[in-house]
Amino acid sequence: MQVRNPPDAPQPARCRATTTCPYCGVGCGVAVELEQDQDSVRIVSLSGDVAHPANHGRLCVKGSALAETLSADGRLTMPQVRDEAGVLREVSWETALDLIAARFGDLSRTHGGESIAAYLSGQLLTEDYYVANKLFKGFIGTPHLDTNSRLCMASAVVAHKRAFGADAVPCSYEDLERAELVVLVGSNLAWNHPVLFQRLKQARIDNPLLRIVVIDPRVTDSCEIADLYLGLRPGSDARLFNGLLAYMADRGRLDRLYLKAHTQGFDAALKAARREDCSLAAIARDCDVDVERLETFYYWFATQLHVVTLFSQGVNQSTSGTDKGNAIINCHLAGGKLGLPGAGPFSITGQPNAMGGREVGGLANQLAAHMDYETPGARELVGEFWNAPNIPQGPGHKAVELFAAIERGEIQALWIMATNPAVSLPDSTRVRAALAACPLVIVSECMADSDTLAYADVVLPASSWSEKDGTVTNSERCISRQRGLLAPPGEARHDWWQLAEVGKRMGYQAAFGYSGPHAIFREHARLSGFRNVAPRHKAGSKPLAASSIRRLFNIAPLAELDREGYDALRPIQWPVRRGEKGELIGTLRLFEDATFNTPNSRARLVPVTPQLPHQALSDATPLRLNTGRIRDQWHTMTRTARSARLMNHRAEPFVELHPQDAAARGLQDGALAQLAGRDEQGSVRGDYRARVRISHGQRQGEVFIPMHWNDHFASHGRAGALLADLVDPFSGQPESKHGAVDVMPLPCEWQATLLIAPGVWGGHEDLAGAMTELEGCYWARIPQATLVRYQLAGEGQPDWALWCERHLSVQAGLWAQDVAQGGISAAGFREGRLIWWLKVTAGAARSDRQPNIAWLGECFASDQLSALERRSLLAGRLSGQADVGTMVCACHQVGELTIRQAIQSGDRCVEALGARLACGTRCGSCLPELKRLVEEERSDERTDSLEMA
Ligand code: SF4
Repeated sequence: MQVRNPPDAPQPARCRATTTCPYCGVGCGVAVELEQDQDSVRIVSLSGDVAHPANHGRLCVKGSALAETLSADGRLTMPQVRDEAGVLREVSWETALDLIAARFGDLSRTHGGESIAAYLSGQLLTEDYYVANKLFKGFIGTPHLDTNSRLCMASAVVAHKRAFGADAVPCSYEDLERAELVVLVGSNLAWNHPVLFQRLKQARIDNPLLRIVVIDPRVTDSCEIADLYLGLRPGSDARLFNGLLAYMADRGRLDRLYLKAHTQGFDAALKAARREDCSLAAIARDCDVDVERLETFYYWFATQLHVVTLFSQGVNQSTSGTDKGNAIINCHLAGGKLGLPGAGPFSITGQPNAMGGREVGGLANQLAAHMDYETPGARELVGEFWNAPNIPQGPGHKAVELFAAIERGEIQALWIMATNPAVSLPDSTRVRAALAACPLVIVSECMADSDTLAYADVVLPASSWSEKDGTVTNSERCISRQRGLLAPPGEARHDWWQLAEVGKRMGYQAAFGYSGPHAIFREHARLSGFRNVAPRHKAGSKPLAASSIRRLFNIAPLAELDREGYDALRPIQWPVRRGEKGELIGTLRLFEDATFNTPNSRARLVPVTPQLPHQALSDATPLRLNTGRIRDQWHTMTRTARSARLMNHRAEPFVELHPQDAAARGLQDGALAQLAGRDEQGSVRGDYRARVRISHGQRQGEVFIPMHWNDHFASHGRAGALLADLVDPFSGQPESKHGAVDVMPLPCEWQATLLIAPGVWGGHEDLAGAMTELEGCYWARIPQATLVRYQLAGEGQPDWALWCERHLSVQAGLWAQDVAQGGISAAGFREGRLIWWLKVTAGAARSDRQPNIAWLGECFASDQLSALERRSLLAGRLSGQADVGTMVCACHQVGELTIRQAIQSGDRCVEALGARLACGTRCGSCLPELKRLVEEERSDERTDSLEMA
């Protein structure tokens, strides 16, 4: 790869640069060391940026594995257009861009601009988002531009607007360290925002008076630091916080002065809360929590001023997510618990640039720069600033509605950027049908492993992390540079460039003639300040000029940055202003002056009526389905699956079940299960097949599955296929936390582990061809450093010898058949090198004796196996080699069984385990899991000794 923008030092063979992690909404700074020789540059080391305010040098396991995800293999490198035979053919950029511009022009003339839509992503940089928003809303004239951030935090956005008059997160990460009480609601911070979890954990060590409450239906790793856990009934959050509001009112714990001076709507909000029985017993019953724990939480919240309530997808992904957000915010306003150090409701975004997308107007109900269509004068202001001819009249379709409009034929062209809706949207089978029926689907994507590419008529290869150059905004409003360090491979290009080139080809050269991302950023910053009044506008001050629109989001001083200043930009929180000496000053905390962005500058308390989830349980679907993220994967795995060590923590799709639910269905830990939902007509919805994990942290009657697996990594791993497309009426956010399913054993007569050398199967077609010959097959693909592992299961009695010969390129060189047990072990070689390895066991249960994949990986890497290795090969391990179990520490590849053995032999704390095995000593993401294993082993010991006594 070529160096494009040599960072800090232009010439030396080694240089350092800083950038930002592309995964979660924490937005950690990353420091990289680059090595440059004559014609290439590599990232040779990567660590946390100690100067970045989000992480102060920390990185979680995903961030620290970033360098392992950068190989050019599997990248899209050329534009492609589908020909009349339905085959994607490589074309030049000119051809692809001309085609898009011409088709957009034709559609605009024949069906109007509203027949064209875009579906974007919180993975895009702000500059990409800005150009997309301007092109679609300002020039093509369609409001139908939405983003996968709709699935993540759209409910929090609406809750903010209703309460504060602006989509403004009041807090900073620093507030977690200055609080007396931190409440995590619907947030498994330990897995989904691990660095923030580490900061909170450290804050608790530094301040023994800090209390932490975890409110979540599941006992997650975040409970490691909890002083109090409330395992509430899914969907009862609004009832819980309405009850808290009433409790504060009843116990004289309201901030009457604050309410009177700075808010409105309190009486109505309290009245709505009191419509239901607000006794502790009734609330505890409705939320299904212990009444003493409930009272403790209420007392702590009501009596502390410095409270941060951190909420995330567990609140947002609901048909009443907006109301839940407002129920939380109501309690903060009623107690005057915001605008202070260590106080406020704090929505944490899932994606790295969900906030940046919101800043430019990347949601279909927004126009631009924190202005909505309904904002008086906004259409005129934006139209004038952009000199845009076609500003739409009103909001467009939100994500789920957008795909319904495609299904109805109203949308004729869709441009998808940096997201995989064929996997991630609810009712994803229906989404696939809509994509298949859409006359023009354009997909800008960097990875070839995206399921959505199967529906593309035009594929545009995009730049990826380390190549993309621009800015992102994290959950605390902090704008950071994501720097372009390496050149994109082949013909891959930046997303903003692709959009601008189409804009120019449609005749809008002046509007899209950007010289680079700095020029886009400057324009974005200028728009934020265009006819905007000071962010600290005081109540009672002079009325605004008729053409002005007051917005909190204002970064106008950054419009003065030249390319050098843009490249050197340090992280800064919006709003941004200039100090007396001309220095740039960010804003740590909003609403310190209790002035809000509403017409009368008062915050609004919103009456909330609690509602149950809309996906109803039934005899056919008696289990509540919760979906979410896991520690080591990101979104639909197209990038994180490229790191072998990230694949090993949870190698296959799984379902977590309460022991009694598992027992009632005859499911053992490690068995394979099948999940299905039902649609309105009672027909089966979805077919999810996964490995059972029995968990005491799961409530009875509820199951959890991960959201990540796509069709390239598992045969039946799409969580979205199980979910109905029901959404919150205000935010349009789908109800992804409250599905309804049943779980049953997956019928299978055999299970197998297949290892093959990379390249034996050239692509997905080879895999699909091999699997279709196996009856009722389940498979999961698990890329490793020197091999690709498959876990298989199926029915019938395959002729394995024939299957191996047909599909594994060479015949078996070693073969052993256990006739009595029906098992097979085999291996194939080419010129002495191990090419494939197979072990089949009969029956539905997974073999107790799993192969040692790490050792087999060494065998695959070896040019010549020793006699001992060859003799041991079919056993899957060398004599005496222990099974390491499921990977817990991804950094040092330490498995669960190894850890349990160490605990049993005397390492009874996390520190001792670290000293012996190194687990938990690098990024720290596995520390909660290590602690849980220590506790489990020690409680087993206590149980054993009690039984003996
Ligand atoms: S917590 Fe991890 S995934 Fe999130 S930004 Fe930081 S390093 Fe990246």
